[in-house]
Amino acid sequence: MNVDQYSSKARDSSFLKRSKTPLAFVFCMTVLIGIGLHLAIDWAVNKTIMAKAEHVAMIWASNFDAELTDLETITQAGALSERQQQVIDAALSFSEVYSFTVFDPQGVLIYSSDYGVATTPSEQSQNLQAKGVFASQSPAVDIIKRASASDVQNVFVQVFVPAIGAEGTPIGTVGLFLDKTQSAAVYAKVMGWFGWLLPGSCAILYAFPAFAYVMKREQVHARTKKLALLSRFDQLTGTLNRHSMNAACHEIFEHRKPDDMTGVFFLDIDKFKTVNDEYSHEFGDAYLQFVSSALASSVRSGDLIGRMGGDEFVIVLPNATLAEMHSIGDAILQKSRAPFAFKGTTIQASISIGFYLADAETPKKDALHAADLALYHAKANGRNAMMEYFPELDKAMLRRREVETRMRDALRSNTFEAVFQPINNPQDKSIVGFEALLRLDDKDGEPIPPDEFIPIAEETGMIHPLGRFVLESGLTAAKSWPDHVFLSVNLSPAQFKHGNLVDQVAELLETFDFPGSRLEFEVTEGLLMADEQRVSDQLIGLKQLGISIAMDDFGTGYSSLGYLWKYDFDKLKIDRVFLEGFDFDRERYQEIIETIVVLGHKMGMQVTIEGVETERQHDMLDLLACDQYQGFYFGRPMPADQALKALSEGDDNVSAA
Ligand code: C2E
Ligand code: CA
Ligand code: CA
Repeated sequence: MNVDQYSSKARDSSFLKRSKTPLAFVFCMTVLIGIGLHLAIDWAVNKTIMAKAEHVAMIWASNFDAELTDLETITQAGALSERQQQVIDAALSFSEVYSFTVFDPQGVLIYSSDYGVATTPSEQSQNLQAKGVFASQSPAVDIIKRASASDVQNVFVQVFVPAIGAEGTPIGTVGLFLDKTQSAAVYAKVMGWFGWLLPGSCAILYAFPAFAYVMKREQVHARTKKLALLSRFDQLTGTLNRHSMNAACHEIFEHRKPDDMTGVFFLDIDKFKTVNDEYSHEFGDAYLQFVSSALASSVRSGDLIGRMGGDEFVIVLPNATLAEMHSIGDAILQKSRAPFAFKGTTIQASISIGFYLADAETPKKDALHAADLALYHAKANGRNAMMEYFPELDKAMLRRREVETRMRDALRSNTFEAVFQPINNPQDKSIVGFEALLRLDDKDGEPIPPDEFIPIAEETGMIHPLGRFVLESGLTAAKSWPDHVFLSVNLSPAQFKHGNLVDQVAELLETFDFPGSRLEFEVTEGLLMADEQRVSDQLIGLKQLGISIAMDDFGTGYSSLGYLWKYDFDKLKIDRVFLEGFDFDRERYQEIIETIVVLGHKMGMQVTIEGVETERQHDMLDLLACDQYQGFYFGRPMPADQALKALSEGDDNVSAA
């Protein structure tokens, strides 16, 4: 599964959920403004009605007073005079006046337009508000709202205004009851529209910033989500990154059912570092993408692919069978071997795979360890292959660790040893040189074969101090040899990596005051396969110091004539496999050896044959024109003092080291 698949799967449905707060905000603001506005409108309508009513009352009262100066006479007479009745009828017809009351200075009711003149004490009740208005000589206004049978609300205004007599003196208080139902309804209608319009426009006004806010938040959310998603995936290959792969792997192992078998692949691109260094990082990136798509197209849906860093991948396959593991692994190997072309460069790289099929009892840690171990051995066995874990790998791993520890100790305590194997002249069998070979014993005193510890030294970088050690030991020994005896030292490809080999050798030659012409380096084809400029530059540099370069183990690898042409070797060392073969198919191997000798000579090289063990082999070689012999028949590798002894004795049958 990759980023795109994940993001489409996890598409968000909770837009509304996230927009809840801003939407609620807009709604609440609208409601609040609506309520506030309606209260304000109500207040304003009341105020307007009351002010108008007060105004009407003042005008009305002033007219009324002027006509009705003899207020006190009304009570005394107990009835209205004709003139007074006329004035009051006229007054009642005045616009919105619904009814009115007249009070004396004490606020005692004198007349009510509804009941007529107050004659009895119960009718002559005292109104404190009327009394107060008289005392203060300022009007008082009250609004009274009553629900009516129809939908319309009845709105009345009660106004008390001071009544001023003809001489301009206060004579009492007039209370007016004005019916404002109609004008209040008109106001309310007009203002009501306004009351809805405003919150409506406010809602729209709020809605814009709220919408913008929601959209902005949506963008931020999408970005955060994308980032979170990206942080789960390796950006280059689209596979899970180390962190999320570990988490996903944990999940799978935690939730296995009793019969579940879980497959784990550990994969490593062979020599990825060289690909990266030799071409470019851009090339390396594209190659990583190529490999990860090979993985993605080989697995089943639901299998997890993770890039654990650099060129390492892990695949976890829930519910897998052994047959599936093999077919998926084979498909990956096959696809990753396909030529990969990028910007005009084509390479055919490869991948190493280790795998383990874990039952439900196997802890995750052990399953991963097993697959990792299998990968390690796939690489150690020459790469470009798949290996399934088997228990012996643990033993091999243990042994490797032991050897590595032993080597570190030996480097620290200087317990590596260089031994010297003679190289002889075929004619007089005299020693013409020695090949320096490293020796190391395990803790029980048993020798650890160089073929076992040299690859570990190369892998761990110990080859650098070790290479220096063997050269120094060789030069120390060779200083006491006669001038015509040369020293041959093996160089491993890893020693060319740092690029400072020539300087180091030059410095040692100077320190030991040893002529480069007496030194020979043996290199193998493996060194030349990467076709690095760096390697050929260093080989040229070494030759410029007068050192000879020998092609070692010729005949075991590609035995490419191309390399022989390209690099100007001084010597060809024919591998001992040809002499081993000679023992059971004499004629054929004799011909092969003869051909190689002729080829070497034609190309201007000396030829040494390795692994001469028996007299029979020696006699056969006499027929060929080899330049030098090397093998147990002439001498086994021996310590420096014995080598010196062998030289002084001229003994060609020296005892074993
Ligand atoms: P090599 O360079 O081909 O060294 C020759 C190997 O063949 C030596 O094995 C030697 O003991 C063995 N040999 C020589 N004559 C005979 C013979 O007649 N019969 C048989 N059966 N074997 C013979 P050794 O010492 O075990 O070294 C193995 C390999 O380890 C060497 O192969 C070389 O590739 C590597 N090696 C040893 N010392 C060094 C070193 O100082 N540096 C590097 N880079 N590699 C080393
Ligand atoms: Ca050698
Ligand atoms: Ca050899």
